Parts: sequence; C-alpha cells; structure tokens
Amino acid sequence: MLDIILLGSGGGLPLPNRYLSSIVLGYKGRKILIDCGEGTQVAMREFHTGFKSLDIICITHIHGDHLFGLPGLLSTMGNSERVDPITIIGPPGIYDAVKGLTLTIYLPYHINIIEVQKDTLEIISTKNGLTLSTDLSKKGDISVSTIRLDHSADCIGYSFYINRKPAFLKENAINLGIPQNLWGRLQYGEDVQYEGKLYNHKMVLGHQRPGIKVSITTDTRPTEDIPEFIENSDLFICEGTYGDHQDQNKAIVNKHMTFEEAAVLAKKGNVDQLLLTHFSPAVDHPMDYIENAKSIFENTELGHDGLKFTLKFKD
Ligand SMILES: [Zn+2]
Ligand SMILES: [Zn+2]
Repeated sequence: MLDIILLGSGGGLPLPNRYLSSIVLGYKGRKILIDCGEGTQVAMREFHTGFKSLDIICITHIHGDHLFGLPGLLSTMGNSERVDPITIIGPPGIYDAVKGLTLTIYLPYHINIIEVQKDTLEIISTKNGLTLSTDLSKKGDISVSTIRLDHSADCIGYSFYINRKPAFLKENAINLGIPQNLWGRLQYGEDVQYEGKLYNHKMVLGHQRPGIKVSITTDTRPTEDIPEFIENSDLFICEGTYGDHQDQNKAIVNKHMTFEEAAVLAKKGNVDQLLLTHFSPAVDHPMDYIENAKSIFENTELGHDGLKFTLKFKD
C-alpha cells in the first residue's frame, strides 16, 4: 500500500490557500518527499505527515518554488534531534544548491547528495530497509527511474515503482518438506540448503505480480519521451500550470503545460489516473477548466493542498 499526499498544488509563489510544489510518498512507515517549495514544513504539519520518517528528498529542478522550503525543513529536522543521514536527489546543480542553502545552518546529521547525470540512480538504502534501485532484479522495495524534461532549468521527472513479491506457494513448500523457518528467505528470492538438498526459490514462488507505479513530471513542456516513461502508471502527477487553452502560448514561452496538454500525455501513456497540480497563481479556480482535461482524459483529478491517495496492489 502506497500513500501519496499532495502537500502543495501551487506553482510560482505561495498563496494564502495554496502551498507550493511538494508531494509525500509513504511506504512501509518511511517517507520520500518530492520537491520542497517554500512552506513545505508548514504543510507537513497541517496534513500530519510528520518528518521523522523522511529518508529521501527528490528535487525536480532548482527553481525556488520547488526548493526554497529545503533549508527550513532540514533545520527543523535537525532541531528535532535527527541524527540519521538523509539523501537528496536532484538534477545537475543540486549539489551546489543544497550546499549554498545550508551554508549557515548547523545540521547534526549527514546529507548525501546525488546528482542525476544520466537518468540513472545508484541503489540507496535507508535506515529501516526501504530501498530504491534502478533495477527490478535488485529486489529493492522501490525502483525509481528519472527522465530529463523540457523546462527553463535542468529538470527531471521521477517514476516510482513499488515492487511486489510473487505469491508464496505454501503447498509446494509443505510437499517439498521445507521447514517453515526457511520460507521467508525463499520468499525473498534466496535459494536455501536444507539437509544436504538445495531448494531453488522458484520451486515455491508463483508468477510475478504487478506492482504500483507513480510518475511525476513537473515542470515541463510535453516531450516525446514522457508517454513511454509514464506508461501504465497507476497515478500520473503532472503539472497543469494553465487551465485555459488560450494560455498555450504562455505555456510554450514559460516551458509549462496546459491542462489539455497534460491530458494528452496521460492518454498516450495509458495511465489509470491523472492528477493535475502546479497551478499558476493567476489561475484562481482551476476547477473552471477541468473539462479541458476531462474531455481528453476522463479520469482526471485536480490537485488541492492535502489531497491524499492510497494505492493498493491489484489482485
Ligand atoms: Zn514550478
Ligand atoms: Zn520551474
């Protein structure tokens, strides 16, 4: 089960009723934050996400509305007696940006900074065993991939895939006479030796089952690569800076998208659900424009601060 909380649905600057870009993914009691606009720590308090179990912060790009919440949040985490390291992932330039923003802050924990250079990430393990990897065969809990986007700054999109273990075929294990205390290791894909016999994990595991996929692209123009990157996502979170298609020229100039453009991507990528977010401060009522997306991709939802999704594995 994966929890997703949209902390802020605004782009550009924070408004009294609209925080800036930030999303929390919660899985197995640990958390990943995607973007950290100004005021993110206030939104985390308001929507009760907590930050003690935060392990990884993924930054899409180095624009203030996605980043300026970082020094405040990191500082508060330090004041909350955090000693465990935290990992920050971002596009080229993230290392200098984080160093600069934290220059005057004393932090009692270490920050690992990963600059995504070639759309790949190393395996990252966190305190409680939450693991991100780029390779499904590595059997991390979460596989993450990135895509280079088309924005006015180096920007990357993220796709998170929650791996699901194959079903354990209890009857096979009993018939083979494998004692119960070895079942767990087999379920995790290990082969085990018992009374001189080697048992391959495939003997007791069923077929591979689909996991959960969540993809996030903000900020960007539509690109040719996005549909494949988001393909079959359970949830596709996409920027929709402008609701009115009349604003398409603004979207082109400012390297953003209209609702309609985001909906076309969702359709091409065959996703289950589209969540639009990152609304321009000039768009007072995004709901006025929802039909521009729904007429192309019916299962569209408009983001608002505190909106929560719980995605479960499909049987
Ligand atoms: Zn932005
Ligand atoms: Zn931006």
